[in-house]
Amino acid sequence: MSEPTPDSTLFDDVVNLAKRRGFVFPSAEIYGGFRSTYDYGPLGVLMLRNVKNAWWRSMVQLRDDVVGLDAAILSPPAIWGASGHLTTFSDPMVDCRNCKERHRADHIADTCPNCGSTDLTEARDFQLMFKTHAGPVQDEGSVAYLRPETAQGMFTNFMNVATTTRKKPPFGIAQVGKSFRNEITPGNFVFRTREFEQMEMEYFVPPAEAGEWFDYWVDQRFAWYQDYGIPAEMLRLRPHDADELSHYSAGTTDIEFLFPWGWGELEGVANRTDYDLKAHASASGERLEYFDQSTNERYTPYVIEPAAGATRTMMAFLLAAYQTDTVGGEERAVLRLDWRLAPNQVAVLPLSKKPELEPTAREVLALLQPHFQCDYDVTQSIGKRYRRQDEVGTPWCITVDFDTIEDRAVTVRDRDTTEQVRVPIDGLIAELIRRTQGS
Ligand code: ATP
Repeated sequence: MSEPTPDSTLFDDVVNLAKRRGFVFPSAEIYGGFRSTYDYGPLGVLMLRNVKNAWWRSMVQLRDDVVGLDAAILSPPAIWGASGHLTTFSDPMVDCRNCKERHRADHIADTCPNCGSTDLTEARDFQLMFKTHAGPVQDEGSVAYLRPETAQGMFTNFMNVATTTRKKPPFGIAQVGKSFRNEITPGNFVFRTREFEQMEMEYFVPPAEAGEWFDYWVDQRFAWYQDYGIPAEMLRLRPHDADELSHYSAGTTDIEFLFPWGWGELEGVANRTDYDLKAHASASGERLEYFDQSTNERYTPYVIEPAAGATRTMMAFLLAAYQTDTVGGEERAVLRLDWRLAPNQVAVLPLSKKPELEPTAREVLALLQPHFQCDYDVTQSIGKRYRRQDEVGTPWCITVDFDTIEDRAVTVRDRDTTEQVRVPIDGLIAELIRRTQGS
């Protein structure tokens, strides 16, 4: 298979921007960094939250058949024994005998990507779960694992949720949260990290309906990325071959994004069948079934799972939004993020640092803050401040100038068109709401 040519400029531009402007910092940087872990800075935390909220809105808020959950990260071996992760959640690892680097055998050809040597060990299975101990005694009885996926919390709580909400299949349980995998080769910035955030939903259905719900969720999720601004040509669906299916899956389709180095998974939609509920029922001795009163039948639902990565998806949104263009003869970098994902929706910019502008500028800020996430910036020339806001994707800049004090009107500047219009302060919220509509 020929790989698309890597666009290293875009990758480097976005990684540099992320660091320089406070989206993503290498973790523990003052100690030289720590093994491909990252910290989300002031802008990154806002954007990551927006990505998660956008997912939650479409998966939970706008539906009446999906409810939320926030389950524990620390979990007992019993869960991972039953789910199959203790025995099968591993990647094949090879060592290069020449340079001692370790690689995922399924990600490389027969040569070491680090030094080019062909002197590689046989592939052996490497368990991906992080193991720790809960409590002061470090023996076999205190072993705990950091969850490698959020999904198991939905299966172990299936009866709790079904009983407390009185939901009947088809219904779903959604969760957003951290997962941990001791990846052999993390890399490509936040694409593959050992600590990351997932957005997963388990949709429980009558077994006979699994096929149609699988197709439904593939369509829904594919449309979601486009709704939030990823161009259709940067997305594709890739059904798994039978030999790459996870141990629990009867069918999986990945939603892939065209990363600068080639196609990569953003989300996997899987038909997990009744594998997990049956496995937990058998291991725990508890009944994990649905009793249909209308037919007097008891059955184990099938599960359709759209499983996405929040951190990886945020990176895709950044890559898809980053552009350069020329404004007034000057080149600018602009993040054309959907306003719902942009870290700040609005920046309030007093034209100058002169103290007479400050009270009105702060009044405008206070007016907008309950409705929008706002930045407030007084340093440097107004042109430079517009560029700074463009570069981090702020859709609207509000400029307060000396006329504002007299006429109670401000300038609203649009990030994408750079068009400026004068709007009365009294009508500002209505004007901004008007601009948010349509998406
Ligand atoms: P991959 O093949 O890339 O290792 P996977 O198929 O094992 O991923 P899933 O188990 O389907 O991934 O997890 C669902 C989603 O969680 C992935 O589509 C991805 O967005 C995200 N994800 C998985 N592993 C990582 C990771 N190490 N770092 C960041 N995100 C991840």
